[in-house]
Amino acid sequence: MLPSHTHSPHLLTLTLTPCRTPIYICAFTGCNRLFPNRDRLMFHRKRDHESEDTSAIVTWNE
Ligand SMILES: [Zn+2]
Repeated sequence: MLPSHTHSPHLLTLTLTPCRTPIYICAFTGCNRLFPNRDRLMFHRKRDHESEDTSAIVTWNE
């Protein structure tokens, strides 16, 4: 059992298989960047958009 904030390179490799790779897209206008999880997307959003808005996220993993 690993806490969800633990980012193990080994685990990351295991999850990078077709159809199982989580995709989270920042749907802000003109951005559309892809992230492997919601935490990474929110980190990007805080840093690059100075926003903590949790809407405008496109994903098919939840
Ligand atoms: Zn963005």
